[in-house]
Amino acid sequence: MKRQPLHWQCISQCGACCRLAPDEREEALAALDEKQREIYLKMVGPDGWCRHYDSGGRRCRIYQERPDFCSVASLASLFGVEENDCEAFAIQCCRQQIRSVYGGRSLELRKFERSLRVNNQTNG
Ligand code: SF4
Ligand code: SF4
Repeated sequence: MKRQPLHWQCISQCGACCRLAPDEREEALAALDEKQREIYLKMVGPDGWCRHYDSGGRRCRIYQERPDFCSVASLASLFGVEENDCEAFAIQCCRQQIRSVYGGRSLELRKFERSLRVNNQTNG
C-alpha cells in the first residue's frame, strides 16, 4: 500500500520556534536575506527569545503582523523546498527546534508527535 505523506500541524503551548538566539539558529539565519536578517536580529531579546514572545502564555503577541519568515511555509520557500516536500520539511523543522529548546524527552515533543499521529489518522 502506498504511504500517504504526513500532514504537519503546529501545536499550542509550544513556541519553540520563537527562540531566536542566533548561535542556535545559524541555519535559519543563513537562509534570510540582509533585510530579513536585520529584522530577525532586532527581535532577539536578552534571554535569546523573541521580544514579541509571551513566555507566560507561550504565544506570539504580534501574530497577525509577524514577519514572513516566522511562518513555516515561508521558511520552506526560503530554503527552496518543493511544494510537495513542505509538510515533511515543516515536521523536521519543528522536531529539531522542539528537541533543541525543550529536549528529546520533553512533553512538548511528545505532544507534537501525538498531534501528528492524530492528524494523520484523521487526514491520511
Ligand atoms: S516549533 Fe513547530 S509546533 Fe512549536 S510553535 Fe513552532 S511551529 Fe508550532
Ligand atoms: S514574531 Fe511572533 S512568531 Fe515570530 S518569533 Fe517572534 S513571537 Fe515567534
